[in-house]
Amino acid sequence: MVVAVRAAVRAGVYARISSDRDGDALGVPRQIADCERLAERKGWQIVERYVDDDVSAWSGRVRPEYRRCLDDLAAGRLNGVLVYDLDRLHRQPRELEAFIDLCRRLELTDVTSVAGDIDLTTPEGQFHARILGAVAAKESDDKSRRIRRKHEELAYDGKMSGGGSRPYGYDDDKLTVRESEAVVIRECVSRVLAGEALRSICTDLNRRAVCTSTGKPWQPQSLGRTLQRPRYAGQREHKGEIVATAEWPAIISATDSARVRALLSDPDRRTNKVARRYLLVRLLRCGQCGEALVSRPRQGGARAYQCVKGPGFSGCGRLSVMAEPLEQFVVEAVLYRLDTPELAAALAGDPGDPDAERWQAEIDHSHAEREDLAAMYGRREISLSEWHAARTPIEQRITEAKKELGRLNRTSALAGHVGNAGQLRSLWETLPLTRQHAIVAAVLDHVVVGPGRRGYNRFDESRLAPVWRV
Ligand SMILES: [Zn+2]
Repeated sequence: MVVAVRAAVRAGVYARISSDRDGDALGVPRQIADCERLAERKGWQIVERYVDDDVSAWSGRVRPEYRRCLDDLAAGRLNGVLVYDLDRLHRQPRELEAFIDLCRRLELTDVTSVAGDIDLTTPEGQFHARILGAVAAKESDDKSRRIRRKHEELAYDGKMSGGGSRPYGYDDDKLTVRESEAVVIRECVSRVLAGEALRSICTDLNRRAVCTSTGKPWQPQSLGRTLQRPRYAGQREHKGEIVATAEWPAIISATDSARVRALLSDPDRRTNKVARRYLLVRLLRCGQCGEALVSRPRQGGARAYQCVKGPGFSGCGRLSVMAEPLEQFVVEAVLYRLDTPELAAALAGDPGDPDAERWQAEIDHSHAEREDLAAMYGRREISLSEWHAARTPIEQRITEAKKELGRLNRTSALAGHVGNAGQLRSLWETLPLTRQHAIVAAVLDHVVVGPGRRGYNRFDESRLAPVWRV
């Protein structure tokens, strides 16, 4: 009995990298390797490899290897094609259509990609390919899978990716440790682990004229981001994960690096930072429609309050005001108001609230406890799990106390500050946002924000009409 055995498919592998900016064709060997594995799985025989080092299939420039591949197909040298992805074969609908015609003519059913088989002789296969083509056409070169793949490959090899400024602590080659800066990194890490605030470390660095790698003063946020980088532990990070040991030497230990990340990414710190951003929430109204303004950054990220129209919002959508100068202005107005005789008279006879003092003391105490705990963790006196366990009840106490405090008479927020605005002004920046908000809200009922003047780009205080509470 004769068993019909289909002759092995004689396949060509086609590979292309379209954006070869770094001057190496790292992606091509990887594409070919993936296709070879696929061929092995399918039992195909690879008879030829075609590699176009193409800058862009968009330009319509001739791709010699693609041409050769088509010729070999037409000549019957090949009867199958392997590609990493179909968009490597064609990136223009015109090319795809020509290829579909060729497949039909040759009855070429064995076209496959790492992503899946494509039979361009059937209507479904053609439909599929056209959809893929349309998607690929929308994808910009930079965002394409090839480039992502290339970055991934570098990451998993522990190599650095190009671009970006010189990392602090390393020379321009990003590989050699710059000892004069490495000592600063080590110093900052041990200070953070000992519980010192980033702000205070920055102040000290800037006082000593220790600058960033671009010669600028340190800011708490950028210092925090810097210290959290796995790079300093000689680790290569990719998309937020440590994926390999890096090709450059470490400056600090992996354990210290992980501890700094645990400390600085404490969700509570993050929440505070986000909350801190909008002081006047619930205190602003639209002068056009009377709705409350919503905190919402403008395009480009500048903080703003806006009257928002659309699902879930009932505003007119016609008004927006920059947050920074508005907040400064309102705070100044509130501080000024605190020193006026009217306010003192309005509050006279209010005995204040002893409970408020008690709850505030509870909050301050719990904050201190939490900081001590972080410092203990930093000094390795307790483990990470002990730290988490001990923190939970403290945080519950803080939440509870904040809730109680919120229930109390608003004017208690002003205790001690009336007639004493100078002192409050000097303290202001150090107060938590909730406290600042409570003080502002105790004096101010709301501010009506009028429409901006056309063509007037600076802050315009004549738009603001405050309605004082006391
Ligand atoms: Zn409005």
